[in-house]
Amino acid sequence: MKVLMTEYLRIDLDSEKWECRVCDHEIGPANKGYKEGMLVYDRDPREIHPPIIDPEKYRFTFSPDPEWVRILEYYCPHCGTMVETEYAIPGHPPLHDMQPDLPALRAQWAKREEIAKPVVGPEVLADQGHSH
Ligand SMILES: [Zn+2]
Repeated sequence: MKVLMTEYLRIDLDSEKWECRVCDHEIGPANKGYKEGMLVYDRDPREIHPPIIDPEKYRFTFSPDPEWVRILEYYCPHCGTMVETEYAIPGHPPLHDMQPDLPALRAQWAKREEIAKPVVGPEVLADQGHSH
C-alpha cells in the first residue's frame, strides 16, 4: 500500500520508504526526514527576490539579506522534480517538517483502497442553466 503524502511524495507502507510520485524513485526511510534523500540547492535569496530599488544607493532594497535568510530547494535526485522549498536561517539545519506515525497510517489505510492519483472533484461546467 502506497499513501500519498504531498503533491510529489508518497510513502510505501510495505517497505516504509519515501518515494517520488513522479518517477517512483525510492528516496529513503519513512521514519527519517525525506529531505535526507533529496538534492538540495542552497539559493541566494536575492536571485528569487531581486532588489526593487538600487542596491548601489540603498542598504535595504526589499530583497532578503543573504546573511539572514537562505532559500533551500529540494529536488528528487532521480528525476529532478522540485519537491519542496523552504526559507531558512543560514547555518540552521533543514526543517524536519513531516514525521508520519507509520503504525497509525497503516491502521488508517487498512480498510481503504490505495489511491494512486489525487481524487479530483467534478468539472464545473460553464453552462448549467444559471441565468445571471
Ligand atoms: Zn523523482
